[in-house]
Amino acid sequence: MIREDVPGRALSLVRESYKEIPLYAPNKVPCPIDLSDNTNLYGVPPHAERAYREATASAITRYPALYASDLKGALAAYAGVEEKCIVTGCGSDDVLDSAVRAFCDPGDAVACPEPSFVMMPLFAKMNGLKALNIPLKSGDYDIDADALLATKARIIYVCSPNNPTGTLASKAALEKVIEKAPGVVILDEAYAEFCDQNYLKDAATHGRLLVTRTLSKAFGLAGLRIGYGVGAPSLIGEVEKSRGPYKVNAGAERAAAAALRQDMDWVREKVADVIRNRARLTEALKGLGLSPVPSFANFVFVKVPKSATEIDKAMRQRGVAIRAFSGLPGVGEALRIGLGPWEQVQAALDALKAVL
Ligand SMILES: *Cc1c(COP(=O)(O)O)cnc(C)c1O
Repeated sequence: MIREDVPGRALSLVRESYKEIPLYAPNKVPCPIDLSDNTNLYGVPPHAERAYREATASAITRYPALYASDLKGALAAYAGVEEKCIVTGCGSDDVLDSAVRAFCDPGDAVACPEPSFVMMPLFAKMNGLKALNIPLKSGDYDIDADALLATKARIIYVCSPNNPTGTLASKAALEKVIEKAPGVVILDEAYAEFCDQNYLKDAATHGRLLVTRTLSKAFGLAGLRIGYGVGAPSLIGEVEKSRGPYKVNAGAERAAAAALRQDMDWVREKVADVIRNRARLTEALKGLGLSPVPSFANFVFVKVPKSATEIDKAMRQRGVAIRAFSGLPGVGEALRIGLGPWEQVQAALDALKAVL
């Protein structure tokens, strides 16, 4: 006889280490203006869109390329490295998750600055690892190289420009970590297109440095889920093995390759507009008496004098979504405001002003 499911019984079936892991579920209630997730708000790169529409039936009925070889070619040209230095994934999340599996045994530690990209400690925990949170330095939000190194973790993760603070890891601190880390250093450059510091070239030759990138932010292709990693071939081979075949779907691969080969002018133009609007929003926030953190990404992070959750709720009622951080370690209450066309940013400013 088949018995009905008993509420709560599933809990006794789950992996012990999964019990404390929450479902990643930020507020995704649709909002007319949505500056909450750092995607490109200017539309779709035109050649990417055409390539996606024109994908043939075989792109749907047959398996895609095992490891996205055509896309690797386009990425290699864009990144200025050899194809064998590139691994692709279903978003850079997939590359990060695969790297964690590739380089750590259960019980090992991943050192993660805090606050930083929330998914990284989750990927560590989901793979049976310990996540060690190492506070960013107070004041300038630089990484604490000595504290990261002192963990002796198998993986040290650094996000630069950092989400959510928008700050760069200083060259001195970052290069110290890269030079002295006992294991692999993962440098998450999801926002590298919005600044002029990156470590792609170093990654290709270093041997223990993996740089991760994405087409979800500057390239406007978040829905297609394309990410990649750059590193020495020996390192990349291990990540690819852990990633497994067929992770990039055929339509997405075509669109992403088209974007990289034919839409770079479009991408550069939108990035330039973001950078202009970043300066403008930063000044406007100062005008409201706030102290925005100088940003190197496509968003601005700013502490607020009252509950960020309450501000978020009230701004949403006015039709604008931003990302709220309440009780953020080392920070407190803060907002992360995504950048796009100025009208959208202005709408966020107007809503914020009304709410404050
Ligand atoms: C958005 C983001 C990613 C994830 O990108 P996907 O390629 O869409 O998975 C990775 N790292 C950071 C820091 C991000 O903000």
